Amino acid sequence: MTGTVTLVGAGPGDKGLLTTAGAQALARADAVVYDRLVGEDILDLIPPQAEKVSVGKENNHHPVPQHEINDILVRLAREGKNVVRLKGGDCFLFGRGGEECEHLLANHVPFRVIPGVTSALAAPAFAGIPVTHRDFTSSVHIITAHARAGKTLNIDFDSLVRLDGTLVFLMGLTALEQVTDGLLRAGMSPEMPAAVIENGARGTQRKVVSVLSDLAANVRAAGLQSPALIIVGRVCSLSDALDWFTPLPLHGKTVVVTRPRERAGTLADKLRVLGANVIEAPCIETAQRTDTQPLADALQQPHDWAVFTSPAGVPAAVHALRGLGRDLRALYSMKIAVIGKGTAAALAAYGLTADLVPTQYDGEHLAHALVDVMPQGGSTLLLRAEQGGRILPEKLAAAGIQVTDVPLYDTVHRCDKADALRGLLESGKIDAVTFTSVSTVEGFAQAVGAADYKGVTACCIGAQTADAARKYFANVKVSKNATIDDLVACIKEEINNVQ
Ligand code: SAH
Repeated sequence: MTGTVTLVGAGPGDKGLLTTAGAQALARADAVVYDRLVGEDILDLIPPQAEKVSVGKENNHHPVPQHEINDILVRLAREGKNVVRLKGGDCFLFGRGGEECEHLLANHVPFRVIPGVTSALAAPAFAGIPVTHRDFTSSVHIITAHARAGKTLNIDFDSLVRLDGTLVFLMGLTALEQVTDGLLRAGMSPEMPAAVIENGARGTQRKVVSVLSDLAANVRAAGLQSPALIIVGRVCSLSDALDWFTPLPLHGKTVVVTRPRERAGTLADKLRVLGANVIEAPCIETAQRTDTQPLADALQQPHDWAVFTSPAGVPAAVHALRGLGRDLRALYSMKIAVIGKGTAAALAAYGLTADLVPTQYDGEHLAHALVDVMPQGGSTLLLRAEQGGRILPEKLAAAGIQVTDVPLYDTVHRCDKADALRGLLESGKIDAVTFTSVSTVEGFAQAVGAADYKGVTACCIGAQTADAARKYFANVKVSKNATIDDLVACIKEEINNVQ
């Protein structure tokens, strides 16, 4: 049976500006055909098993011609696939979405359209420019300023000037001088406020605001690049006063989040809210162990305390117990200690409350806290990664406590974005890298190899993580407490001071 093609507008780049319906369509996709302007974080939402087809134009590379894109969509749908056609911004605004729908219709392929947040509106919003305002104008017009190579623009500037509304030009950076000259020649005031916004609504946004007659020179001097749009109109005079985005504490800073994808969310979101350009580049993965014998053996003996040292350990224990035909009730006679709040929350998801959480969230403090409450000769069952730190079992053993260390999963160094990270590091574009465990440091170092870390701050949770980072980074900072909020505070403090 023929599948369906869903055209999805991905928004201007930031994952947060993808619609809920768009994200749901992506989650169900068997194949995704996407453009260059779609943000990396959005591409990360594509299910791993889905086929990914890039049809984007890279500068100086030939794009996949539209008729081929049309054919790809029909072919994939005829293979019975749920196809998502993912486009930057909105799919029907200069995205050739209409042509794709016509082609699908002619080939009897059912389609749906999920609109997206267009850059034409999002970029001004992130630059403090309301596209309409009762004191200035009551209309906004969106125009393409794309000129074929060597051709002049075919725009009726006289009509545009007469409209007296806000003008937004897409695809116009190359033709910027032609646009401003055209408007001036048609009688627009040289004093008319105007702006160019590069990478609008993304963490890397830059803007130049100027009177119309100076706009092109100022934009060239600032070196703005594509994707960028031009906005002309009296509303641009509000841009400085209403700019809420540029003053954010981490605006213009690029921060890498290295923790595994399933736990990157909170940290990345908190940094984005502060205006950072966040690169989610998980450097480790957890791999469940298939051998459940060590756990089966350990459960033959009674233990006083079960100990979890990371959120990943909890589902790993549930999984391993299931493999033995059992569940968390196998721990019923034990008290449960966890390393920190995140692990306590992972446990709470299964309806269990931790009996002990140390004041500082690291192996050493966990060991001290256990030693304080346990009698000599008491026994602990550590349910954790094969690569778990040595401090916890050593301190427990030194205090006369028995330790059964059961490896439930492996922490594997793996980074899909290694090449991109290396490139960014080498071009000095990264301000800080965050590490939440020793293994994230090692995974990162392995991924980027001998790239240059000078000028980059490593912000770490935990003294052991910081020690590991000092092997590679000259500038290492440790958060006050081992919490995500303190890590965010540490980043804020640090990278605001550098510069
Ligand atoms: N369908 C898209 C527009 C496609 S045309 C939308 O609705 O946004 C491509 C042009 O859009 C680019 O040349 C640039 O002018 C503009 N554009 C896309 N994303 C942008 C962004 N994040 N910031 C500024 N302009 C952007």
